[in-house]
Amino acid sequence: MYDTASREVKEIISKNSAISMYCCGPTVYRDAHVGNLRTFILSDLIKRALKLQGDTVRLIQNITDVGHLAEDLDSQDKMLMQAKKENSEPFEIARKYETKFHFDLAALNVEPADQYPRASETIELMQEMISSLIENGSAYIGTDANIYFSAKSFASYGAISGNKLDALQPGHRYEYLDEGGKLFHADWALWKSAGTRTEMIWDSPWGAGFPGWHIECSAMSLRYLDNHVDVHVGGIDLRFPHHENERAQSNSITKNESVSHWIHGEHLLFEGRKMSKSAGNVLLLSDITARGIDPLSLRLVILENKYRSQMDLTWDSIDAAFTTLKRWRKKVDSWGSSLIVKKDDEIFSSLMNDLDTPKAIQRLRTIEKDSLISDEMKRAIFMYADQVLALDLGIKKNSKSISAQCAKLLEERNIARQEKDWAKSDLLRDQLMQEGIIVSDTSSGQEWDLI
Ligand code: AMP
Ligand code: ZN
Repeated sequence: MYDTASREVKEIISKNSAISMYCCGPTVYRDAHVGNLRTFILSDLIKRALKLQGDTVRLIQNITDVGHLAEDLDSQDKMLMQAKKENSEPFEIARKYETKFHFDLAALNVEPADQYPRASETIELMQEMISSLIENGSAYIGTDANIYFSAKSFASYGAISGNKLDALQPGHRYEYLDEGGKLFHADWALWKSAGTRTEMIWDSPWGAGFPGWHIECSAMSLRYLDNHVDVHVGGIDLRFPHHENERAQSNSITKNESVSHWIHGEHLLFEGRKMSKSAGNVLLLSDITARGIDPLSLRLVILENKYRSQMDLTWDSIDAAFTTLKRWRKKVDSWGSSLIVKKDDEIFSSLMNDLDTPKAIQRLRTIEKDSLISDEMKRAIFMYADQVLALDLGIKKNSKSISAQCAKLLEERNIARQEKDWAKSDLLRDQLMQEGIIVSDTSSGQEWDLI
């Protein structure tokens, strides 16, 4: 896979028995759009491809439910902003969109991560890391009582993005308005003092406040992956400043290169334009399913594009993918019922060569038409590819039934919500997730689905 930091295609290797993977998760203040989903599918494809070649993978994905400030003039916390808009509590907003995120992933056959730590539940961990950074001279207390990372303390700043400190000008987008107490314009806040803010704040050795966004990913990746990340995934926009800052923080703690491989997915455009609320062209997975289109059609369109190229999603391309998906499923079914998979060297090498999914898909189209290949063999190759593509080509979906124990948990959660016992309802949701059931709260009550 291409590594953004070394600017070359490198083999993914691990010193340990399992490959440690970290994928920056969603900021849960709104529905994930199809662009966000492209990045989450990328991480799933990498994980599945590694598993296809026999590796074990441990994947961690964070849930940002505090500390991500909007990059506009307001620099307000995205969660608090949305809570005000929806006339709700910030944690209600966070849990609502977190659940919807899991629903979207399940619909797209994205395998669940091993853990989804939440920023709000990892505050102590972040504080420990900030204390260590202050102790070793990488961070300082600003004149405004915020804690800042000193960019100049980290000599190789800029290695991922090429944005070296001497080239960074003051007043850029990466700075927030309320960070007047820092010593140098490229420094960033690790901990912000509460000021007039009353919600989503925590006690700390430096007074009440809340964490910055970048420290979250350092704290979680190092803690949950034993101080080293083999593969770090995110969208291209995170390359700078988010990943540059994360690298500086993590390396300053481990005194080592904490991430071996930085993988960035290019952005997705919709009908030729960047998706934005103001332009009114934000596409959600629910917009696709509302048209009666299988959500895996989106996964197929994404697979037809190289992850390192910007892709333009259109309704025509989604419709065409849906047609292909239906045809393939019908054919695979007509080719027999065997569950045998047969390795295809060309598909394998395409996937292993910087995740060339368009080439793998092209190979399937060729096999489909090849009259010299037996039906049985065609089916076995399609089933082989589907271990990574995950388009449900050969498996008939299970009927929607659950055990009596899970039904009881669902009922208990329903009651907990009626009694406004949010802690219990969260706990039950986590328990159900362990059992492979995902629940979401809609205006007409609790809904569930199988992962
Ligand atoms: P966010 O919820 O905004 O923190 O973003 C979650 C993930 O989606 C991050 O990895 C972003 O880099 C990625 N992302 C945001 N916009 C797009 C887009 N248009 N196409 C692909 N990935 C995106
Ligand atoms: Zn991150």
